[in-house]
Amino acid sequence: MNVLVLGAGQLARMMALASKPLNVNVRAYDVGSRTVVDPLNLAQSYGDLAEGIAFADAITAEFEHIAHDVLAQCEASGKLHPSSQAIKTGGDRRLEKGVLEQCGVANAQHKIITTEQDFADAISELGLPLILKSALAGYDGKGQWRIKDASQAADIWKDIEAFFAGANEPAAQAVVAEQMVPFDREVSLVGARDAKGNTQVYPLVENHHTDGVLTVTVALAQNEALTAQAKAMFDKVADALNYVGVLAIEFFQVGEQLLVNEIAPRVHNSGHWTQQGADTCQFENHIRATTGMPLGSGELVRPTAMINILGEDEVPSEVLSVPSVHLHWYGKGKRAGRKMGHINLSADTNKALVERLYQVAQLLPSAAFEDIQQYAAELAKKY
Ligand code: AMP
Repeated sequence: MNVLVLGAGQLARMMALASKPLNVNVRAYDVGSRTVVDPLNLAQSYGDLAEGIAFADAITAEFEHIAHDVLAQCEASGKLHPSSQAIKTGGDRRLEKGVLEQCGVANAQHKIITTEQDFADAISELGLPLILKSALAGYDGKGQWRIKDASQAADIWKDIEAFFAGANEPAAQAVVAEQMVPFDREVSLVGARDAKGNTQVYPLVENHHTDGVLTVTVALAQNEALTAQAKAMFDKVADALNYVGVLAIEFFQVGEQLLVNEIAPRVHNSGHWTQQGADTCQFENHIRATTGMPLGSGELVRPTAMINILGEDEVPSEVLSVPSVHLHWYGKGKRAGRKMGHINLSADTNKALVERLYQVAQLLPSAAFEDIQQYAAELAKKY
């Protein structure tokens, strides 16, 4: 069985690593060079997109901002999973909000704005503070503005106009204005759905962000009611999209209620812990779903945390002397803030895991990982 992944980053790489034991070969389409490559050795080229499509039994994607003509060409082959509609939904906040509304899934009150008048209307209808997010090509906190006071509106609108002007297709751009949610914490649910509609979800996990970028995910043995609430929302969204593959949903938790923040039609950074902590990891389940194999269990095997390595190409080797710690490097060149790898660590109990997270955080250089040390110390007080 052969799979073509649209995108040749770390997610395609980890899909390739999880696929070999299943006798599945993965190639990746690099959207920059428009060539098909080996996701483990990007220098190895296998021709153009048409050749990649001919090679594949199934085609999938590792990110949502893929040119629509590429998606159309793949969909025409009948091999693309999830569908182009699902992939586009993840790449356009207007479509995403539309699906959430259609499914009746709770999310932040919002309004789509394209003009300064819409912006003024959003302020009066939704109130302040608001967070404004570009509809297209915004990720990891980029293309976002926050407004607390009406006196900031004119300056922020100027910035938004400059952002639109610099976009690939200025006319296609818009901004989604959302009420600021006073959340207690950010959590996410990753799950897989196969073509017959069977699903396997992983437990709800807690996510910690630093400057808008995910830095730590913690998967604990936990609150079943909250996972059930998230699972009900997952089912609604996955069914509405007739979804095939792994889908991630990020939520804000306010008291005991979950509000969807965003959906990602792909394997997700907050699911990397599943490589060590779940019965079947998200990469294997994505490959199983998209190639028509039965899904594996998403059950938590033991409490596990993931620490993202951002902008660093090494960590002290003592980290590996801590029990149940595993390093996953992506083989990428060093660049400030770039996702270079991650550390997974597991333990037998929630308490032992947060203690181990603190221990590992202390071994990491404080300049790059300072915020993680603080977060680990706060978690250690709770458990
Ligand atoms: P996003 O790119 O939508 O995931 O937003 C990046 C980060 O901004 C999130 O992880 C939250 O910490 C914060 N954020 C986004 N939307 C809201 C909101 N409606 N209310 C409060 N914080 C938000």
